Amino acid sequence: MAVQQVFPLSCVVQHYAWGKMGSNSEVARLLASSDPQARISEDKPYAELWMGSHPRGDAKILDNCISQKTLGQWIAKNQDCLGSKVKDTFNGKLPFLFKVLSVETALSIQAHPNKELAEKLHLQAPQHYPDANHKPEMAIALTSFQGLCGFRPIEEIVTFLTKVPEFRFLIGDNAATQLKKSMNSDSQSVASALQSCFSHLMKSEKKVVVEQLNLLVKRISQQVAAGNNMEDIYGELLLQLHQQYPGDIGCFAIYFLNLLALKPGEAMFLEANVPHAYLKGDCVECMACSDNTVRAGLTPKFIDVPTLCEMLSYIPSKDRLFLPTRSLEDPYLSIYDPPVPDFTVMRMEVPGSITEYKVLAVDSASIVLVVQGRVTASSPTVQTPIPLQRGGVLFIGANESVSLKLAAPDDLLMFRACCLL
Ligand SMILES: [Zn+2]
Repeated sequence: MAVQQVFPLSCVVQHYAWGKMGSNSEVARLLASSDPQARISEDKPYAELWMGSHPRGDAKILDNCISQKTLGQWIAKNQDCLGSKVKDTFNGKLPFLFKVLSVETALSIQAHPNKELAEKLHLQAPQHYPDANHKPEMAIALTSFQGLCGFRPIEEIVTFLTKVPEFRFLIGDNAATQLKKSMNSDSQSVASALQSCFSHLMKSEKKVVVEQLNLLVKRISQQVAAGNNMEDIYGELLLQLHQQYPGDIGCFAIYFLNLLALKPGEAMFLEANVPHAYLKGDCVECMACSDNTVRAGLTPKFIDVPTLCEMLSYIPSKDRLFLPTRSLEDPYLSIYDPPVPDFTVMRMEVPGSITEYKVLAVDSASIVLVVQGRVTASSPTVQTPIPLQRGGVLFIGANESVSLKLAAPDDLLMFRACCLL
């Protein structure tokens, strides 16, 4: 009998303080739906669900016939399940970590180093940069999801410099003037002017930041109280961030970075050196296996402003939505394939009128999350079909095709992470 290549997983919840509380959290709701034993504490944040073999959150195997307890242990013994190219390229490890995030309060303003910088940072400061790998990330909205991503077009930043004098004060007249002048110039001048402005802001003295932020908060609050609309300077968001992180320099980042409001199914891709922050909502996220994050605000964690200012891509752009492509083989499949080797995410949306659906075999290990619907899964190496409902997570070994029987009338929504080399 061939080794069983498909089995359900019980995944690890991380209760970080920024997560949504109790059953407000999609993470908690998925958990409660898939596991009737799970008790959700309404006074606890359910921030992340980790679907993978990371040592700090190795998924448990829900199958007593398999002798290994966790996915990491199983993969160590069954290397072929990774797929031949993946096994060789990533030294016998699953190259990605798949997650669900439920964000209540903003996560830090951050960027992730490319491989070259990651190696350097890890060598210089391993206590802050725990490994030598890059960490590209992709977030796909499950509910409406708000985040900051990449630098805004220069015209927008220049407009904020006029409309928000507190912001201009921190940047200073010289840098602000230089940015305005760069508007009709080449991309090199734009990048250098933008870097100068952003660095001035981030390196402002704490005392001055607090003063200017208090002035801005007071001004917005008074205008709002008087019934005036302050949305041209994102008044509501500024007040909200200031409430979450009083006096934090990161509150001003909304005037530099694009504000994205993703609808379910829409995605953003965070390549190396792109500044970003998740603000609110639920998403699935996939990332390369790494913990390297350079932070500079909206966080109580270690911040490294000089490294962040130095490393960022100072490329203004409005287009930050990452678009999936439609599969030619499968009308229900959308593929989010970022320009990095480490991972690809697929979204499968199958109408309830379909009774049977085949999950395509790929030359990579996969992890599948059921967000909506009920199925039973069978494959050549599985003896008894595996029932899965909303919140269910399935591991699929490389080159294994899985057929799903849908329980009518529910539509089926699933996400799959894999590595297509
Ligand atoms: Zn990030």
